[in-house]
Amino acid sequence: MPVTHPRPVLRFDDGGWAEAVGNHPALDLVNTVAWRLDPDRIVERLPDGPALVTWAAFVGLLDPARHDAFTYELVEDPEAGRRAAERVRSARETLYRVLQPLAVGAEPDAADVAALHGGLLDALTRAGATTLMPLEWSTGLRSVTDLPDELALAAWRLLEREDRGRLRQCQDGDCGWLFLDRSRNGSRVWCSSADCGNRSRARRHYQRRTAASR
Ligand SMILES: [Zn+2]
Repeated sequence: MPVTHPRPVLRFDDGGWAEAVGNHPALDLVNTVAWRLDPDRIVERLPDGPALVTWAAFVGLLDPARHDAFTYELVEDPEAGRRAAERVRSARETLYRVLQPLAVGAEPDAADVAALHGGLLDALTRAGATTLMPLEWSTGLRSVTDLPDELALAAWRLLEREDRGRLRQCQDGDCGWLFLDRSRNGSRVWCSSADCGNRSRARRHYQRRTAASR
């Protein structure tokens, strides 16, 4: 049965896709690792500069003009893109190590929390305030090299403004994606009901049928 997606998806050459299911850009960033809980299937979706720019445009961080400018910048300076992607991946993993325990009702390691706070403060020193009240920060996104800091500022907003009680990990055993449950009754359990939810329903259906035929 073909999977139907309620949201736009970013397709990859291996047949996989990314979907902005996190309800927050910082969580969509954490979800750029696919099948995180299965060592045999785990996939890195931000391997290089071009992948980072394509993803940032997909999640709405870059408007079309910036996407074009950054793509041109990568042609001129591929090394800058490679370094930016490396910084983003490193910060993403620190963020994941802090958020994942929170999503399952546990406490993160103090060293990971300290590393995250250090990274956020570093990013803030290179950012500028864009509004007075409420105060918003941005790098201005003038270059690919601003993307790591811009994403750190998104992580800052997540930690500052969102309710940790709404943070969830997809119930699929292999998926590992995190999201904010914004449903009224707080009952969302799948990253995407079109994907993990569907697969789980199909598995249960199959198990029921095989049990009934025994
Ligand atoms: Zn999932």
